[in-house]
Order: sequence, then structure tokens, then C-alpha cells
Amino acid sequence: MPQQEQYRQRSYALSREALELINELGLSANPINYAVFFAYVEKSNDDLVALIDILRGNKRALDDVKCHELYQRFIDPSRAELLRETISHELHRQVSDLIDRLAKGKEVISTADLRDAARDLLGMENRANAQQAAKDVNDADPAPVEVTQLLLDLEEMKREAHTDGLTGIANRKAFDESLRDAAMTTMERGEPLSILLIDIDHFKRVNDKHGHQAGDQVIRTLAKTLQQNVKGRDTTARYGGEEFAVVLPATTLTDAMRVAENIRASIEALHLRSFNRNEDLGRITASVGVATYQLGEPLTRVIDRADQALYLAKANGRNCVMNQNDLLTQPINRAESA
Ligand code: GH3
Ligand code: MG
Ligand code: MG
Repeated sequence: MPQQEQYRQRSYALSREALELINELGLSANPINYAVFFAYVEKSNDDLVALIDILRGNKRALDDVKCHELYQRFIDPSRAELLRETISHELHRQVSDLIDRLAKGKEVISTADLRDAARDLLGMENRANAQQAAKDVNDADPAPVEVTQLLLDLEEMKREAHTDGLTGIANRKAFDESLRDAAMTTMERGEPLSILLIDIDHFKRVNDKHGHQAGDQVIRTLAKTLQQNVKGRDTTARYGGEEFAVVLPATTLTDAMRVAENIRASIEALHLRSFNRNEDLGRITASVGVATYQLGEPLTRVIDRADQALYLAKANGRNCVMNQNDLLTQPINRAESA
């Protein structure tokens, strides 16, 4: 099938889906609702999809006013022309469909149904100029606020889903996403990309000696220390219990080694006392593994190399930084690192 025809068929399918939803939800079939639901079924905007899903999931009223708000928020006016065309195609298709069904006489269609259909179709065609419709929306008052509130809630939900509860820094999920994004940029621009894996040394002893709360305090302090040692575009994440990871976009292995060494030294220089028992927590140290991304490889590989370098750092006595090149000259003896 030629590409253009494929595209047309897909548009029709989406059109139909959008109209069915509008109908199912008891909304009026106007161009604004159509534009909103076309974008929804097309999944062209994640936030719009998420909001409509929330509204539908909560069985909240999804009325024309709310659709106006969604339209104002999410629909790009430059798509108006495209929408106008799609609407017009869809209308013609619907009309011929209706005529077909009538001609075949297989379906009983009441006059009320016909009147409703005609009213919807006319309503849409008359108002099919989405720019005019957008103007109507802008003129509409009072300005509704629920979508704004929902958007704020959505932002908050997204933030929470990407944040580690104990430290407030990125969590593992956010790390994975940030690494994926950075790898894309690397492929597009050919910039280097490096990562660090950082694990607190003998952390079990801190917990055993000073209690779990002191342990938590150490984790929080280290998260801050990491953040103080990286730039804004870098992502510092809590990777697991007492393990952290840093994504360093546009950073060579050599530069990443420098960042890692700064982090290691800053941690070693901390003087910590437990808040709850006011005990000296002694010298806290961490080991670091550094690796750099090779174009095209799966992301698990670079993480694995950083992890092996981290093991090597543990095996070499902890409180030190090792990188992927060290793995070539110093094979890991896993038994030593325990
Ligand atoms: P190594 O130098 O080999 O890394 O030794 P380690 O003791 O740090 O490593 P191990 O993996 O044996 O122990 C990690 C400890 O970290 C065990 C676990 O109880 C503790 N831990 C993990 N997550 C948390 C947390 O959120 N809070 C606290 N307080 N402790 C945690
Ligand atoms: Mg660990
Ligand atoms: Mg540890």
C-alpha cells in the first residue's frame, strides 16, 4: 500500500475512534472535542493522554467545558488546518456510510437517530474551521481551573515517580530514563557519555554500630555531597540501598575519572555525627566504578562495566576509583572483594 494511502487509512481509523469515544462519553461532536480526542487516540501528547485517563478513571465529569480547557492547553493551533481537512473527510465518509446502511435497509434507523446524526454532522461542518472554534474557546468564560489543577497533580505524580523518598534525588527509574536520553544525544551528536557507580564502603558496619537511622542520615548526606560535585545537566541517582549512580553527558572517561575522584575525596572528608544519638560516625568512604558508553551498545553493557570497575575498587582496598580500562589490566577476583 502506498505510504500516503496508509497514512489516510490510519487517520480514518483514528477519526472513527475519536468520534466513538466522544459519543460514548456523551460529549457534543464539535471540532474542539474532536481535536482533543483525535490527539488522545493518536497519543500525540503524553500529558493529554494521562489527564484524560485520570478523568475517565476517576469517573469525573468529562464535559464540554473540560474539553475546552484541554483544547486550550494541548492543541497546537497550527494543526487547525490539518484537522479541518480530516474532519471534512470523516464527515463525508460518515455520510456515505449512513447512506449505505439506509440503502441496504439492514438496519433500523429511527428518525430521531437521523435527526441527531444530521445535527451533529451539520454542527461539525459549520464549525469545522478550528481556528474559529479556538476563538470561541478563548472567548468562553469563566476560565475553568480543574484541568490546571489536574496538570499540577500530574506534574507532582511524575516528580514523585522519579524521586527517591529518602534522599530526594533521582531514583533508579529516573536514572534509567536519563541514561537512555543521554545515549540518544550521544548517538545524535557524537558526544561522549560516561557513568559512575558509587557504593558506600562497609556500610553494614555503620548500621550495626550506630543504628539504621544513622545509616539513613549517611545516605542522605552522601546524596547531597554527590550533587555538590556534579553540574546541572548531570543526573545523580540513588541506584539501590547504599549505592548511587551518576550520568555524565558530554563527558569523556578521563573527565569522569576526575569527577569520581572529587566525589570520593569529598566523602572521605566528611565529619558526621548522628543526629539521634550524637555519636561520631567515624570516617565514611565509598568506592567508585567508572565506564564510558560505546556507540550502539546496549545500555546494560556500560552499566555492567561500571559495576565491574566498582568491584575492582572494592577488591583494591575500597575508598578508591577504578575504571573500565583497569579491568583489562587487573582481572577481578570476586572472592577478594567480599
Ligand atoms: P561493601 O564495602 O562491600 O560495599 O560493604 P557493605 O557493608 O557496604 O555492603 P553490603 O552489601 O554487605 O551491605 C550493605 C548494607 O546497606 C546492608 C543494608 O542493611 C544497608 N542498607 C541498604 N539500604 C539501606 C537504607 O536505606 N538505609 C540504611 N540505614 N541501610 C541500608
Ligand atoms: Mg552495595
Ligand atoms: Mg557497600
